[in-house]
Amino acid sequence: MSRGCPAGDPRVCEARRGARPRGRPRARRRTLKHVRQIVDYALQRRSRLSDVHSGRTAVADVCDANPYLLRAAKFHGRPSSTLCPICRKEQVTLVSWVFGDRLGQVSGSARTAEEIASLDATAEEFTVHVVEVCRTCSWNHLVQSYVAGLPPRSTRRRRRVAE
Ligand SMILES: [Zn+2]
Repeated sequence: MSRGCPAGDPRVCEARRGARPRGRPRARRRTLKHVRQIVDYALQRRSRLSDVHSGRTAVADVCDANPYLLRAAKFHGRPSSTLCPICRKEQVTLVSWVFGDRLGQVSGSARTAEEIASLDATAEEFTVHVVEVCRTCSWNHLVQSYVAGLPPRSTRRRRRVAE
């Protein structure tokens, strides 16, 4: 931000822009400037768990994290304070997967918070899927998705060139 902030304090400007008018920003988003379209999957998670508790869904069907996901949790995951809803033996690990046409080979891979912050500052629009994983019982569920990265450049110019 070389242009500077009219209020002299970037935090004040963030607040004026309406990004997060109340309360402290969540720690894990502190470095992400372009987060948008946040979708929370708490409802789906609750319904999935209620299916398990009522016996409509087998535990084996929800505790099916594959080795790739478990490995990603081990090397790229970040700890959470949420106890595994199935085995209650450990706190679930959050794994963030990035997807985007412009990410090349990076698309479809798990990334650490630092890597996502760096992509957010340099890469064009991509989607992040946050999955919670229990490394004890292999429970896994999508908990949140959001869009990050630099907004796509105007397609108008591209179209004009094409015409
Ligand atoms: Zn578990």
